[in-house]
Amino acid sequence: MNSREFDEKYRYDGNDLGVSCTECRTVFKVWSPLAERIELYLYKEGNSPVYMRKEMKPGERGVWGLEFGESLHGMYYDYLVRINGKDTRTADPYAVGCCCNGNRSMVVNLKLTDPEGFEKDTAPAPEKERIIYELHIKDFSYDKESGVPEEYRGKYKAFTVNGTKEEYPTCMEYLKELGITHVHLLPFFDYASVDEDGGENQYNWGYDPLNFNVPEGSYATDTTDGTVRIRECKEMIQALHANGLRVVMDVVYNHTYNEDSWLQRMVPEYYYRSWEDGSLSDGSACGNDIAAGRAMVDNYIADSVMYWAREYHVDGFRFDLMGLLTVELMNRIRRELDEAFGEGEKLLYGEPWRADSSPMERGTKAALKENAACLDKGIGIFSDDTRDVIKGDVFLEKKPGFVNGGSNLESLILHAVTGWCDGGSCFRPVSCGQIINYVSAHDNFTLWDKLVLTMMDGESDFSVRHEEVLEANRLAAFIYFTCQGNLFMQAGEEFGRTKFGEGNSYCSKPEVNMLRWRQTVEQKELADYYRGLIRLRKKLPALYDKSSEAAARIKEKKIHKKGVVSFCADNRDIRGGGEWEELFVIYNADPAGYTVSLPKGTWEILADGREAGCCRETDAQRSSVWVAGRSGMLLGRKRA
Ligand code: CA
Repeated sequence: MNSREFDEKYRYDGNDLGVSCTECRTVFKVWSPLAERIELYLYKEGNSPVYMRKEMKPGERGVWGLEFGESLHGMYYDYLVRINGKDTRTADPYAVGCCCNGNRSMVVNLKLTDPEGFEKDTAPAPEKERIIYELHIKDFSYDKESGVPEEYRGKYKAFTVNGTKEEYPTCMEYLKELGITHVHLLPFFDYASVDEDGGENQYNWGYDPLNFNVPEGSYATDTTDGTVRIRECKEMIQALHANGLRVVMDVVYNHTYNEDSWLQRMVPEYYYRSWEDGSLSDGSACGNDIAAGRAMVDNYIADSVMYWAREYHVDGFRFDLMGLLTVELMNRIRRELDEAFGEGEKLLYGEPWRADSSPMERGTKAALKENAACLDKGIGIFSDDTRDVIKGDVFLEKKPGFVNGGSNLESLILHAVTGWCDGGSCFRPVSCGQIINYVSAHDNFTLWDKLVLTMMDGESDFSVRHEEVLEANRLAAFIYFTCQGNLFMQAGEEFGRTKFGEGNSYCSKPEVNMLRWRQTVEQKELADYYRGLIRLRKKLPALYDKSSEAAARIKEKKIHKKGVVSFCADNRDIRGGGEWEELFVIYNADPAGYTVSLPKGTWEILADGREAGCCRETDAQRSSVWVAGRSGMLLGRKRA
């Protein structure tokens, strides 16, 4: 039977798989069409011997069920599944709770896990721009100088600590003042690579899912009681909301920790892609690819997203290797989120690439960059074009981009301004709303390290304050903050975060990865510059407009000479208002200063290479402006 026939016969669209537990009832349901027999095992603890065994009843379309007329909240469970005469133990792929290290599932009456006031928790009102800050939960507060009590360091709970400071604001106090709108958290579903019973100095980014619908245990203060991780994860989200920040969850539905997953044990061969010779495909470079495009795989992923949005109040999702998933699935998730929460209320974006090719289901399209036009306008893609043209190829350590000495990039950098809506790349987005502009993320070198590697020939002391690197850093930030599209930055980019030249720190020591809060004062000018850009951006409709007409606002693009370009932007908002009716933007990547003629009118300098969000009037008579070497300048013309 091929997968299409299998889907026709067994596809199940009910939303009750897993365990539903209320005060007086507990219902177990699993989808396992190939099973001959399934037995439920109940345990009183996460590691205690069997308490009770009961046979599951087969139902329609491969769904097996069992009902108890009481609450089994707090009990642990797993299944013994017989397929082709062979019994295999498995946890529940639909579980919402689990024991320490996730090998047993947990029955949870979710209502009992809500922190106080969670029913009133709502996301802060949307702002004019989306400025996304990518953060790892452990990196946030692992530093001894994080202002967070030791027992909460590296944990969900660190986000609930208010008034965090050393001699300067740290953690939540710092985030509040930064002006960002979204905190994008690296994976916090239950992943396998960290021993939840082990020491605090373990580390992993977490791109290795074990239980997709359970929060990771190593971020909880107690892993012996499976409800603690759920409650504390909710508390983290509630605290971020209370401080005016929306929360994006990094999700990894393209592969599992290994191919011997609960999904595989429940329905062998169904959830993974394989080549014709039977070998597993490896488009994720993590050993396996989830077979998005099959009915129950798509249901599983869509249901999981909806679960996090509903139960945890997550405001957005970032899809790891989205190029391994399908356009059809991504559009479906967009539609379901819009229907449930209102159009565009939940953010959706992902990496429009994959590590290697992968055999897709017939009739499906991969959610890759070249298929952006088929993706809903409300689905964003990381722009590797913008990233690489600004600072250089991420895979070629020494290769520079526009700001750090690259050549012949003038015309490309001007295409980046419209989010590639006016050409310049191998694809055309529906609008700049689909584009995520960035120059650093958890993968590859931090911006600081990349600049040091490309600019400081032979010198690789990453903790030294190099003036040229600072200039290039400010220019890089200036450029993507003046490009149309969404804005995204790795936490700490704004204070010169270094990982000491480590390009892939996914399992490096927490000390390499953590945010060093003292740097926020050591690099205060740089951080202030970012704060200024963030404030300014929210006032500039020319740049925050996400409509398909936005590209038409960018006019008079000009290449002045090698390394120097400029453009104008119509800054009137929809109602014709806006503090400045036109913007004039100059990028000067040349180490020498350059004089540029100004278009007619009285201009104010809103940002230059040193300061952003300032407001200095130029002389009304002045017809030109001097732009310092390796810097940008943004001017606004006052409404007449
Ligand atoms: Ca885990």
